[in-house]
Amino acid sequence: MSRIASLPPNDKKQLRACMLCCLIKSAAQFKSEGCDNCEEFLEMRGSTDRVLECTTNKYDGMIAMMNNEQSWVARWQRIEEKVRGVYAVRVFGRLPVDVEDELERKGISYRPGQGNGAAASTAVE
Ligand SMILES: [Zn+2]
Repeated sequence: MSRIASLPPNDKKQLRACMLCCLIKSAAQFKSEGCDNCEEFLEMRGSTDRVLECTTNKYDGMIAMMNNEQSWVARWQRIEEKVRGVYAVRVFGRLPVDVEDELERKGISYRPGQGNGAAASTAVE
């Protein structure tokens, strides 16, 4: 696994965190690329509305996760199976109900406000 998510730009005002996996990127990056971990479920690519629904600008902390096999931070955050990138420690807000229903149908347990690895175990082959 050597995929690396686009790193967020310096302008922090534009940054948003994925509510499912906590990946931080700019709204424009989420719109053009989707979420590197959860695009399969959240389908944000190309949709500003979807990006606004599934990501939030209310989050705590930023962790740069670059060495996912050895990082204790990654283990603590349970993000070792996700792509390398910058992650929020905690996100606030909640995915739309239809998205939660969809996740449930796919057997993914989503815990609002935690975002720590719900999708990783099933999304990554
Ligand atoms: Zn995500």
